Amino acid sequence: MNIRVLYNYILVRLAVRHILPAHFVNSKPVSECGEELVERDGCLVRLGVFERLKQVNEFLPDGYRIVVVEGFRDERKQEQLRQEAEKKIKEAFPEITESELVTRLNKSVANRSGHLTGGAVDVLLYKDNQVAPCGSKYLEFNNETPSFARLKDKTSSANRKILHKAMKKAGFSNYPAEWWHFSYGDKMWAAYANKHAAIYGEVKNS
Ligand SMILES: [Zn+2]
Repeated sequence: MNIRVLYNYILVRLAVRHILPAHFVNSKPVSECGEELVERDGCLVRLGVFERLKQVNEFLPDGYRIVVVEGFRDERKQEQLRQEAEKKIKEAFPEITESELVTRLNKSVANRSGHLTGGAVDVLLYKDNQVAPCGSKYLEFNNETPSFARLKDKTSSANRKILHKAMKKAGFSNYPAEWWHFSYGDKMWAAYANKHAAIYGEVKNS
């Protein structure tokens, strides 16, 4: 770890800066454990993720549960999502420069996403079988999307805390730029949980 990365890491730990630089996350080595993909809520996730997701429901207060809305994505789906996002950005900002476009695009759909490993999940909180509001809607990018955002609505703020506490207790790391994105075992998890290496690499199409 060089001094600049260490500095960034300390800022994140102290909650002065929330998001670790992408090059630091991507620099984590992968020691692939070879776990299979299994189904959860119609999505595919690694077995270790599946087991931890089961624990999350046990950690939640009565009446609450989580639903996984996105798990493993193959390369083709990831590329398709990037193309859709690129189109939307170009429509919204017709004058955008190429470098701004790439920055915005990487923010909304990561180039090398944890979803390609089966270790990342997008999760929604349910209360009494209804989606419990946690700030911005899923995939809605506004000032309530970052996990650390101060939410005006007290119920949403409480719900977000409930979700994050249970996910953390089960061993997941949250991506601070999106309140719904969590991972276990991928490079992002290794970076945020201060692990030497990821245990899930990208799953190639067979
Ligand atoms: Zn995600």
